Amino acid sequence: MKSSLEELAIFGGRALSDKILPVGQVNLPDWEKFQKSYRPLLRTGGASKVEEFEERMSSLLNVRHVLAVTNATDGLMLVCKLLRLKGRIALPSFTFAATAQAPLWAGLEPVFCDVDKNTCALTKQTVEPVMKENDIAAILGVHMWGNACDVAGLAELGEKYGARVFYDAAHAVGCTHQGNNIGNFGECEVFSFHATKVLGTTEGGCIATNDQELFREMKKMRDGDSCIPGAAPCAFSPAQAQFGLLSLDLFPEIKNLNREKLLLYKKRISDLPGFSMIEPKWEEEHNCQYAVFKIEKEEFGLDRDSLMDILVREHIHARRYFVPGLHKSPPFNQNGKEPCLPVTDYLCERVLQLPSGANTNLEDIDKICSLLHFIHENSKSIKAKLRKD
Ligand SMILES: *Cc1c(COP(=O)(O)O)cnc(C)c1O
Repeated sequence: MKSSLEELAIFGGRALSDKILPVGQVNLPDWEKFQKSYRPLLRTGGASKVEEFEERMSSLLNVRHVLAVTNATDGLMLVCKLLRLKGRIALPSFTFAATAQAPLWAGLEPVFCDVDKNTCALTKQTVEPVMKENDIAAILGVHMWGNACDVAGLAELGEKYGARVFYDAAHAVGCTHQGNNIGNFGECEVFSFHATKVLGTTEGGCIATNDQELFREMKKMRDGDSCIPGAAPCAFSPAQAQFGLLSLDLFPEIKNLNREKLLLYKKRISDLPGFSMIEPKWEEEHNCQYAVFKIEKEEFGLDRDSLMDILVREHIHARRYFVPGLHKSPPFNQNGKEPCLPVTDYLCERVLQLPSGANTNLEDIDKICSLLHFIHENSKSIKAKLRKD
C-alpha cells in the first residue's frame, strides 16, 4: 500500500495495479468449451442456434417472446418504427447516447426528462411535467445499472396522456423489479449484449415482449420478410447465438461473483466520507455488473475529475458517467435553451464507475478501496501538490 504522496503514480510512483483494470470487462467463456461448441457449428451452419438462444433468453427473462437483434441500438430503432411512433418521445438525459440516438434515427424528437436521485431512472414525478407541456407519443425509460424505473408510474402516465411505453433494458439482463422480471414491462424491453454488459454475444441485443403481434412483426422485419421504410435490417447470427448460449451457462456464477464484489466495495467505502455507492437493489435478483459511486467533493476532499485522473495513473481506469448529460451534448443541445434537469446535472458532476467484473478480483477491490482511503486522508496535501507540480 502507498505510504507517502510520492508513491502515487501521478507523482512518479509505481502504479497500484500491474494490469490495467478497465470498467467494462468482458465475461468470456472457457476456451475449451468455446472450441468444442463451435466445431459442429462450422460444419452445419447452426441454423437453429438463434432460436435456441432466444428460447433460453425468454426463460431467463421469464417473458413470452424474445427476438435477438444486431444490437440494442438497432433494437430500439426497430421498436420506434414498429410502434409507428411519430413526433416526440420522452426519455432521460442521464443515459448512454444510443437511448436518444435510436429514436432520432427513427425520425422522432427526444424530449429530455430528469431522473430520480436514488434510482437514477425515470419516475412519474420526473416525467409528468414533460407530458403536460408537450404532445408526447411515447415514453422510453432506462433501467439504469439494472435498477428499474418507476414502471407503475410510467404505465399510469402512458394511460393518462395516451403515450406508448417501452424500455431500454440494456443494463438489466437477469434483474427483477418487485420480484417481476425486467423484460415484462411496457410494450417491450430492449437488452444489450455489448462487451461491457453482463451477458455477451460478441455484440448483439434482444427485444423482449409478451405481445405476440408485435413479436411476429418484429421477426418479419429482422428476417427481411417485410419492410417498413426507414427501418434498418438487424440480423443476429448463429455464431453470436452460440456465444450467447455459452454466456448464459456462465451467467448464474457471474451474477454471484459480481454481487460479492459490490458487497466488498460497499463494506470498504462505508466509512469513507463523501463517497457513496449507487447500490443495486439487494433484495431483487440483480446482475450487479456496475460498481458506481457518487463523490461529494467537500467531504471527500477532492472532486470527482481529479480523483479519476489519479486513479487512471494507478491503472484503475475509472470512468465518469454520463458527461455531459445528453441534453447538453450535440446533437441534442440547444444553444443554452436546454431544459433544466437539476438531478441529472447533479449526477453528471459526481458519478464515477470503478472496475468490477471478470478481471477484477476481491484483492484488487480491497487495494482500490485502501487507495481511496489514502487519497481521502491526504486530500489536502494532494491538492496542494497537484497545484504546485
Ligand atoms: C450499451 C447501451 C446501449 C446500446 O447497446 P448496443 O447493444 O451497444 O447498441 C443502449 N442503452 C444503454 C443504456 C446502454 O448502456
